[in-house]
Amino acid sequence: MNKAKEHLKEIENLIKELATETDKVKLSEKFKEYLNFMAKFHNYSWYNTFWIMAQNPQAERMAGFKKWNELKRTIKKGEHGIKILYPMFKEVERKTIEGIKKEQQVYFNVGYVFDIKQTEGKELPTIESTSVEGDNYEYLLSILKDFCKDNKIELEFKELLKNSLYGYTRKEKEQIIITIKEQDNKNTQAQTLMHEITHALEEHTQIGKTTRQQEEIQADGVGYVVSRYFKMEHKGFNYLALYDADYKKIMNNFKVIAKVSKKLINYIEEKLIKKVEVV
Ligand SMILES: [Zn+2]
Repeated sequence: MNKAKEHLKEIENLIKELATETDKVKLSEKFKEYLNFMAKFHNYSWYNTFWIMAQNPQAERMAGFKKWNELKRTIKKGEHGIKILYPMFKEVERKTIEGIKKEQQVYFNVGYVFDIKQTEGKELPTIESTSVEGDNYEYLLSILKDFCKDNKIELEFKELLKNSLYGYTRKEKEQIIITIKEQDNKNTQAQTLMHEITHALEEHTQIGKTTRQQEEIQADGVGYVVSRYFKMEHKGFNYLALYDADYKKIMNNFKVIAKVSKKLINYIEEKLIKKVEVV
């Protein structure tokens, strides 16, 4: 087998490994328990989400007093809730020429919600984290920074407050900008950058081209393959399980994952060889 073919075989094996691991996570009891728990939470409207974020940017999991009690947790002493408006529906009777008609009327009530950090009590179901530890792959991060420069992708490191947000990609006019969470360790930053570079190269910033699920499968697929290729631990299966990905859905994105992974691996290897030559 020649070098290029060997390369591709390794990439293929890694994508299959990710697909198998994602299926395993989804079948685990812990994961099912977590999904059940998540289903109990409200989906707040964009208006409320906006207000919650404005009043408490670090908010992770919000619920009302009653909901927390159901989950066997209580509000800590001295904590103040965030005010939100929630719709209520009332059936009213209205007299018309044809007789009495029943109608649904909407009105808004003021409620208070509390973040999980403001509560205490029974532990909640969790899932495995998606971030890794350590700074020993800083060299990958620095090569990936060069990759962004060479590909005219603007890169910024910023303090991001939300725990679960590692980075994001956006397009302003014609410029693609990647933001990476400043507080994360170097290994997590390197993996986030692989993920965001995929969003940038595959133009996921264009609305409607691909579904969110496909985009996340492709981006984390590349993060997984490139990390594992350089022997760094990667927990993408935990992330992709949350996007309801499975073996088949991951393999359906094989082509894009392999293409972008190859591009990044080649770039990184070339830079590494040059570094060795300089020494
Ligand atoms: Zn993403």
